[in-house]
Formats: sequence, structure tokens, C-alpha cells
Amino acid sequence: MASKMSLVVPKARKARYSSLCSDDELLEDDTNCYESVSEKRSSWIEDFGSISGSQNSIYLPNTGHVSAPPPREDPASTSVPIIKMGWLYKNPPQGSLIYQHRWVKLDAEYLRYFDTEKDVYSKRIIPTLSITSVVNVGEQKFEVVTHNRTFLFRAESDLERSEWVSVLKSCVGVSHARTSLDVTFNPCVSSEMKGYLELRGLRSKLYTVVCADKVFLYKNTEDYRLGIGITSIDMNVGNVKEVDRRAFDLTTPYRIFSFVADTDQLKDQWVEAMRNSIAEALSNYEVAERIWAEPSNQMCADCSAAKPEWAAINLCVVFCKRCAGEHRGLGQSISKVRSLKMDKKVWTDDLIQLFLALGNERANQFWAANVPPSEALTLNSSSEERRRFIAAKYREGKYRRYHPLFGNQRELNNALCINVQSSDVCETLALVFCGADVSCDSGDPELTSPIALAQHHGQNLQLEFLMQNRNTELPRSEVKVAIDRVHYMAPPSVTHNGFLFKTASMARPITEKKGKEDFSRRWCVLNDGNFSYYESDKNATPNGGLKMKEIVCLAVSPPETHGYDHTFELYSEAERLYLFGTDNPEAMREWVKSIAKSFIPAAAEDLLLKDFERIGRLRYKDRLNREMSRLGWFCLVGSSLHIRLEEHAADETIDLQKLQELSIQSENEVLVLVERGRTLYIEGERKLDFQGWAAAIQRAAGSSGDTLSQQQLTEADIPVIVERCIHFTTQYGLTSEGIYRKSGVNSKIAALLEEFRRDARCVWLKEGEHQVDDVSNVLKRFFRDIEEGLFGLDAHSWLSATAFTDESSRICQYRLLFSNLPRVNQATLRALVNHLYCVQRFADLNQMNLHNLAIVFGPTLFQADGKDYSAGRVIEDLIQHYVTIFDVNELQLKKQLDEITYIIKLRDNLTPKAGTGSGDFICTVYLEEKKDTAEQHVKIPATMTAAELTFEILDRRKISVKEKDYWCCFEVNEKEEMERPLHYQEKVLPIFHSLGTDSHLLVKKHFSMEAMLVYLASKVEVSKHGMMKFREERSLLGLSTGSFNDRYFILTNTSLRLYKEVRSNRAEREWPVKCLKVYHGIKKKLRPPTCWGLTVIYESEKQEKQERQQWCLCCDTQNEMREWFATFMSIQNGGRVWPAEWLKSRATSRSAPLDARFGNVSLIPLRGSENEMRNSVAAFTADPLALFRNV
Ligand SMILES: [Zn+2]
Repeated sequence: MASKMSLVVPKARKARYSSLCSDDELLEDDTNCYESVSEKRSSWIEDFGSISGSQNSIYLPNTGHVSAPPPREDPASTSVPIIKMGWLYKNPPQGSLIYQHRWVKLDAEYLRYFDTEKDVYSKRIIPTLSITSVVNVGEQKFEVVTHNRTFLFRAESDLERSEWVSVLKSCVGVSHARTSLDVTFNPCVSSEMKGYLELRGLRSKLYTVVCADKVFLYKNTEDYRLGIGITSIDMNVGNVKEVDRRAFDLTTPYRIFSFVADTDQLKDQWVEAMRNSIAEALSNYEVAERIWAEPSNQMCADCSAAKPEWAAINLCVVFCKRCAGEHRGLGQSISKVRSLKMDKKVWTDDLIQLFLALGNERANQFWAANVPPSEALTLNSSSEERRRFIAAKYREGKYRRYHPLFGNQRELNNALCINVQSSDVCETLALVFCGADVSCDSGDPELTSPIALAQHHGQNLQLEFLMQNRNTELPRSEVKVAIDRVHYMAPPSVTHNGFLFKTASMARPITEKKGKEDFSRRWCVLNDGNFSYYESDKNATPNGGLKMKEIVCLAVSPPETHGYDHTFELYSEAERLYLFGTDNPEAMREWVKSIAKSFIPAAAEDLLLKDFERIGRLRYKDRLNREMSRLGWFCLVGSSLHIRLEEHAADETIDLQKLQELSIQSENEVLVLVERGRTLYIEGERKLDFQGWAAAIQRAAGSSGDTLSQQQLTEADIPVIVERCIHFTTQYGLTSEGIYRKSGVNSKIAALLEEFRRDARCVWLKEGEHQVDDVSNVLKRFFRDIEEGLFGLDAHSWLSATAFTDESSRICQYRLLFSNLPRVNQATLRALVNHLYCVQRFADLNQMNLHNLAIVFGPTLFQADGKDYSAGRVIEDLIQHYVTIFDVNELQLKKQLDEITYIIKLRDNLTPKAGTGSGDFICTVYLEEKKDTAEQHVKIPATMTAAELTFEILDRRKISVKEKDYWCCFEVNEKEEMERPLHYQEKVLPIFHSLGTDSHLLVKKHFSMEAMLVYLASKVEVSKHGMMKFREERSLLGLSTGSFNDRYFILTNTSLRLYKEVRSNRAEREWPVKCLKVYHGIKKKLRPPTCWGLTVIYESEKQEKQERQQWCLCCDTQNEMREWFATFMSIQNGGRVWPAEWLKSRATSRSAPLDARFGNVSLIPLRGSENEMRNSVAAFTADPLALFRNV
């Protein structure tokens, strides 16, 4: 080792003892830190010295293979197998030029480095989760990039470097796949105790976190937040000793950590937290050690890694963490993954015994009876290989040993019923996973099922196995052709060559123009999936190259973006960006075609036919498959996003201009596309190409130009701006005298128009905020400015049609011209004329008759000066003969006019006191509590959503809203003492109509929303099960009776099922989730056992059997109730519980000062209302702070 250290190793080995002091480049200077320590170092260092001296023989195991449990004496007792370790040079800290020699160790969870290979406690611990990329940077160096810190290492050789880079990459890939599945992998999410502690011998305090069975030390809170620590201490080897008032020692066999707390109370808390942690660490091993007592359970059932800590409790196999990630990907219905260490509760004695009886060996005799050696996993298998193998093994049952009765359902069931009476669980496993039905009818009238039979015969292990597999999805051998797979097939051999101009590769997006001088001319050869570039066509050795299968995106820049007229960008998996250019458009096309062809799989090759600006692969999720992200191929052509998704056989197209919502959740880097009926979540698997995609999609979703069809459109192909203006004017402008003739305020018109141009989807017109005359002028100006005009290039033909003196010939001509208009122009013209038709029908109110409107709109729509009347003439004809020219259904038109009459009447009658006569639409809404001073009268149009109503109320009261204020509209039923927050997209009017006299609408903050969102975000799949107290109101002779009883509930995507007890086989009751309405609160008279109750109303949707049930559910804790409620909400609303950017959905967020007149309205919602009737409701909001405490 010494010879290797000859390069630039610091001689200052005195720094050894201070290995707890971080040497990261962004931290303060190492030397300072060392020196300050060296003088002051006290007992712990000496202790450490003596201990480490006596423990010199302790080495890390070489490969992570460990012969047998127990692991307690093992220094690598985290028992996460080491993937790679070795010496590397780490870049010097600031102010120094000397590279530091470090012993670096990588396991699935952490990258750590140490002073020496003997050290147990690292100098730096970097969760693989936080690593975003690993990049080669030349000269045997590579960078490990985390969210905002980069670690530079240098290897001894190129070979060594490439090994590190490849294992790190595969490791990072794995952990990223996991994050999306399970946030609990983040080590410190549920810390017991954290804060600054003085560590004797160090100048500055360390941020210390006790988390489950470990203690983590961080330089400061910032580092803690980033997840980048100094070291972690496994508490299974720890012991805590109080020293004096504020000091205590954490002793391990390798070192004594002497901590000093700030106060003696704090010390007591720290000591307790650490002792709990030790207890947890020791008990954590109980299950693992018991399971590992079976020798075959000491190796991963799938890849043979040592000391596997995870298990599928239904498949009865034990596996390692990396394989566990892929098992999770299969879903709970195939593999119920549990941790041997963390999920202690599930490990009943029977379950452990079952794992001992079966064990990996016997389970694999079934599951892995026929594994071809070429498909078997090894320790080094990539995550892709693991995913493929594990899916084949358990989902498809590809390698299983077929039971002789396979295919004969009756015989299988029969055999199962007989076998469960014996102790042979291996046979049961084989029967069940070859198709025997766990809940089949045994034919025995008393013991009707295999479960009952096993129970009756005291076969606990059989019973346990059957119970775990009640809902297991059986292996199905049909293999669907997944693109994911296809992607890894060899790319077709495309050959192409020629000269291209190339810049140096980059790690960030190109924002500036690259001049010709930035490019070098290179001879480029594409062959057999490799792209190589050479100094010239005479050279034999390439300057560099790219593997086509590592290309994730190809983007064609608009012409003349850079010094060369035509350029394109290639993005690689390793987050590098390559820019190529040429002045020859032909050459450009050829290259783009050839390159795309060589990295796009055959399954998605239709995309290649498009004239794309950008093509590549991305990970995505949709509403139906939110657990696991999948691989899709995307290509962008104008405003169309063509996609080839994994589960679909054909290409689909999303019209980006018609999106209802487009947002980036920047925290998790997800692009959310909402169109009617579907939501697509595109994930930022890699930063660089994701940024490019996000920007391109956003650009394409905005108005792409100045013609009509380039605007953001509605479903009906009408520009959003036109529809919103027409809608607003219909609502508020039909009685306005001189509407469309009067001018608005110029600056306001210009500003509003600009707002629409920027992003029409985000502009919400509101009464009070926007003036009718401004809006009507925005509409006019839009049409006047639109390129090519509403009538398109044939406008003159429309004008010349006025020459026909015969009315019917004119109409005929208009009809013909109309049918020749482009789609968007047709839809827009129809909508506009419809609107104008309505306006003139109310001319007695607004003075805008046919002629007046034609004078205004003729020149506007024909973008003419208005000197002659032919333009006006056309408009007059179109309005007058609206029904004939546009084939209008007169009944519908009548209905529309009736509605408008209604609106006008309503506005006339709009008085502060409401609720009588025709005022059905005027509804009283309360702010924060029901009292006169909090009353608001709102006219509710049929389209108004709960979110719009909420904003309306808040606007009126000039209440400024902060991001984390979850204002909601609640439906409150006083008599039943229950309330329900409306979903933000719920239409208010039907709710309002269905309210009885005991109910009202109330706008207030939803204090549990944050906690619910946090809870939902942590869920892998949205479902929930558990015990609740259930009470059904039965009506006997007009008296309601019933009491609360414990029942077991399972809530899934489709239904809520009630079981008599946990172990019940069959659900007693089942309700479709979409027919349930869930309210907070239970009527006090029903004597709910706790105050955390829900009232549920079931209304069957079947016409013939109208049925309404009402019953109550009671939870033991507020948390429990919240989780149930959140799960209901999420399921009922396709996962959309709260708008992604709800403040932006408000037209302009104003922070107007509070209106003094409303000073008597408390802005802090009243809690613990004295109103006894609503106690159960109040209890729910009683402790708003609770959600900050225990989420
Ligand atoms: Zn494994």
C-alpha cells in the first residue's frame, strides 16, 4: 500500500486521530480544524487511541461475505454488503493542493471514506440516495455529484476509475429507483432526537441525530438537511454511560464518544434516546438472527448477497436490499416485502417458523428450479438485470417447478385441501403458486376452506402461509412485450459517416450562442451502435465516442441558433451534453435520422417518422400506475407530444396546447401534464435532459405563435383567451350599455392581453377584479392582431360574397367559405358569432343591436380600416343568419338564451339578503364560522368549483393567502354534527342544491391538509387497512339502535371492505369507493368511543335499487383518522387531493391589507367552539399544531 501512497499523500499523519473532522472542500480549512483539536484533545482521543490499538486486528471483510450470525461483533454490522472498496485520492480541501489518500467504501446505502482501511468511523458519509450523477472528468478522476456538492476523486488507474464509476452509477440508479418507491430509505426521516452536542476534543459542536438503531454525526444542520454526514455509529455495539451533570459517553468497541449536552435535562433526553436506540438495534437483530438460523437464509434468494435483511412474507424468500427494491416494483399483490429489522410487528412466531421450515433453499427448489445460468443473478448484477430476473421469477413464474397437477384446477384445489392438514408447507407452496385457490371451497360443510382446514388441524405454519397468500396474484407466464426490455436489445446497426463540427461536451444546458470558433471539425462515424469522432478521415484512432444505447435524448435546435446554421444536441445517460453542427441542411437531416434510429427501439420506431425537434426516453407515471415509474419514448413535434408508453401498444399524442394544467413540481422534479381524462407525470430521472424536455414542453404548451391555431386551445379548439373573454362578458356584460363599443382602460387592456399571451391557462377573469369593458376590448384587440385573421387567407372571398344581392346566395356562399376554414378558425368563428348573437338579443339592455355590433366587429375581424361597410355587412349577415349558416340546433339556442335571461335576472335581483324565490343560485357562504357577520352572498354559476368559490370568498374579504394555508370550502351539517371538505375541483352548485336546511357552506382553513399530503406522499400505493370501530344505524320501529364494534377494514382503489376480524377470510360488507361520501365527525348522541370519527354515507348509483346507508367509523387517534380520510380523498380523486400550484390558480395573488370593516372576523379560525353540537368537528381542528409534530 505504501508504494501506492507515494504520489501526493499528506505526510501529516498526525491528523489521523481527528478523523471525525470532516475534510470536505466546502467546510472550513482542515488544518485549522486539526490543529485546534490537536492541542485540546482530551480523554476521548486517548481512549480511542488505546482502544484502537488493542483492536488492531479488526478489518472489514473483503467482499462483505460473512460466514454466520450473529453480526454484533462485526464492525460492518450494518450488514449492508459492501459493493466496492479501495484507496482513492480525494481532491484537496480549499487552500491546499495536496490530494488526500482515502479508503473509500461503497455499499447500497452509503459512499464513505476513511483515513485508513482499519477505521470503523468514516470521515464522510454520503447517502447514495443523494448522489445525482457520477461523471468521468479525465486523468483518472471522477466526480460524485450530490444535490449541491461535488466530490472529486482520483483513481490509481483508468481501469480502477472506470470500475468505480460503473459501480457507483449502478448503485445510484438503484437507489433512485427506490426513492420513488419508499421514502423510508432516507435514513433520518424519523429521528428520535436531534440537535447540537459537543464532542469532547472538537472545537465546534456537531449536529447529532439519533435515528432508529444508529447515531449520525453531521458538521451542522445544513449538512444534515443535505444528508451528507461525517459518520454513523451503529448502536448495536454501543453502550451509554452518564459521566457527570451534562456529559455522557457513548462507548463502542472501537471508540468512546464523550458528549456534552447543553443542559442536564437535555443530557437526560440524549441518554434516553441513545439507550432506546441501542435497545432497538439489539432487538432489530432478533428477527434477523432467528431467520438466519436457517443457513440458506443467510444468502439472498435471488443474487446470493450475504446477510439479506428483507423478505417477501408471502413468497417465503429472504433477499438483499438491492433485490428488495425490485421486489417492491412487483407490487404488494405479488411480493409483500418486509424488513427483517424494521417491520418487527409482522414477524410473528408462526411467520418466523414458516421461514425456517421453508427457507431460501426449499423455496428456491420451487421458484428457481429451472434457472438458465445465463439469466442467474450475481452480486454484481445491475438493477436492470435484477428487475428482469425478479419479474421473470416471481411475476411470471418462469423458473418454477411445475406441479404435476398444473392446469387442473379442481385437482389442485383438492390436493391443497388435503395437504394443508399435514405439515408439508413446501407442497402447499408449490400447489398455491401453480394455481391452487387459497379460498376454494373444500366441500366440507363445516371446514369450508383450506384455511379452516389448516386451522382445525392445528397446522399453524400452513395457516400462516395461506393467510399471507389470500390476495396474492398468481404467476402468469404470458410475457407482455415491454419497451423497457426492448430498449436493452441491441440497436439496429445503422451506419453513417461524414464531417460534423463538434464542441466540447458540457454538463449544463447551453444558454449562450456558440460561435463557429467553439466548434472543431471532426470526422464522425456511426457504426454498430457506436458513434466515434476522429481528428480527420485519415486517422485511425478516434478522439472519442459515444455509445448509442447511452443516448437518452436528441434535440434539434432551431436553425441559426449557433454559429453553424444547423445544430443538434445529444444527451447522454451520464448527464453530458454534446453539440454538433453543420451548415448543410441535408447532412443535418441524415445525421439526425441515423442517430435517432440507432437509439430508439424498434417498438417505438414510428416516432422516427415524425419531423421531431426532440426525441428520447423518459420515465413516467400515470394515475393508474403511480407506484412504479415506467420507461416511455417521447418525441416533440410542434405542440404535439407523441408518446410511446410501456403498457400501450400504439403511439399516443398529447396536444400540449390543449392541456388543462402543466406544472413542474420542482422539489421532486416532476413535470405534470393534465389533459382531459388523464394525468401524466414525467420524472426527472436525469437533470440535464429533463431540463431540456421541461423547457421544450412548456414552450410548446404556450402560444407558439401569432396565428389562431398557435394559441392555447380548449377542448373545442377555441383559443382559451377567446373562450374566457366571451364567458366573462356573457356573465357580467350583457346588460352593460354599449358593450364592445365603449373603450376600456388602455393600460389594463394591454396588461391583460399580455397576461393571456404569456399563459392563457393561468388567467382567470373575475368580477370586481376585471372590468367588462377591458375584457371586451381584449377580445377585440386579440382578433385585430391575430396573424392571418379569423377568416384566414380567404378573407377577401368573404368580403366579395357581400356582392350577391340575393340573400340566399350570400348565405350559401358563407356556408361554403365556412366549410373551407381551418378547424380552429371554424370553431372560433362559430363561438364568436354565437356570442354576438346573444349580445344583440339583449340589445334593449345593452343598446348593441345587430348593426352596432357589425360596425364594431366588421373592421376588427377583417383587420380593416372600416372605410367601407362590406366587412360590417359580413358580420351582420353572420349574426342575422346565425342559425342557418352554422346549422345551429334551435332548441339548444333557446336553452342558452334562457340561461342568459336567468343570469341577467339574477344579477338584477342580486341583493345582500338571499335564499328566497329565484335566488337559488345565490348562496350564503360563511367564512370561518356560521354567524351573521361572516356571511357572504355569492352567485354560483354552474361551472364554479370549490376552489373558485373559496378564492371568491377570500378575495371579497381581502384575505391574503399563503402557500401553506389550506383554505377549503366545507359542507357542514349541523344536525348530524359532521362536515366534509369539498374537493377543490368539485362543482359547488350541485352540492349547494343538495344541502338540507341543516347544512351550509363554510370556507375555512383545512388544518389537516398538510399532514394528509405528507402522509400520502409517503405512501407507495394508496390503500389502507386496519381496525376501526364501526357503527351502523339500524332503524327498528323508528328508533335507531346500534353500537360501535371493532371491525377490520381494507380500503383499496375500488372498494372499502369490512371484515369481522383481521383473520376473516371473506368480507362481510363491501362498498364501491366512488359511492361513498366521507364526513368528519359523528353525532354525539351516538356516543362515539373517541372523538376521531368519520360519518360515511353510501348512495348506490344503480337506478333500480336506490339505496342510502349511513354509518360511522371511529379511530383511536387523530392520525389514524387523518390517514383514512386522506386515503379516501386520494382514491376518490385519482390522487389529486390538492392542486399542485394552488396559489397560481388564482388570477393574481394580491396581498391587500385587511379591510378594517371586517376586523371582527377572526383570521385565526375559532377552535374548540363553545357550540356543543359541533364538538366532534371542533376536536378535529382543535390542535392544528399536532400536524407539525407527528407526521
Ligand atoms: Zn439480492
